[in-house]
Amino acid sequence: MHETMVAKGLLDSIIAESEKRNAKPTKAKMSCGTFNTVNDEVLLFAFEAIAKGTICEGMKLDIEHKSIQGKCKSCGKQFDFNITKPACSHCGCDKFDLLPDPALLLEEIELETD
Ligand SMILES: [Zn+2]
Repeated sequence: MHETMVAKGLLDSIIAESEKRNAKPTKAKMSCGTFNTVNDEVLLFAFEAIAKGTICEGMKLDIEHKSIQGKCKSCGKQFDFNITKPACSHCGCDKFDLLPDPALLLEEIELETD
C-alpha cells in the first residue's frame, strides 16, 4: 500500500533527524501535491502503527496538500492553479506553464526541548 511506504519513509527521516539532535520528536509537518494524493487518514493510521515502540510513538503528524503552481508567461509570477479559473491570478493572462506537482516532502520536525 502506497501510504505505508510513505509512512515508513517519513518515520525513517524523523528518527534520523531526532537521533542527530538527540531529542524526542513531538510534531512533524509534511506536504504533498494535488496529484500526488495520499489518503490522510490511511497515512496517519499507518504512521501511528509503525511508530509504535519507536521514538516517534505518540507524536503528531500534520499533512498539508499544496495546490499546483502555474507560472505566468506575461508577468512571470507564480500563482495557485485553479482548474475552474485557469488564468494568472496576478494579471489575468491565460498563457502560463504549469510547474511540476510538489513532491511529498517532510517540511519540519518539532523536537522536545528541555
Ligand atoms: Zn500574470
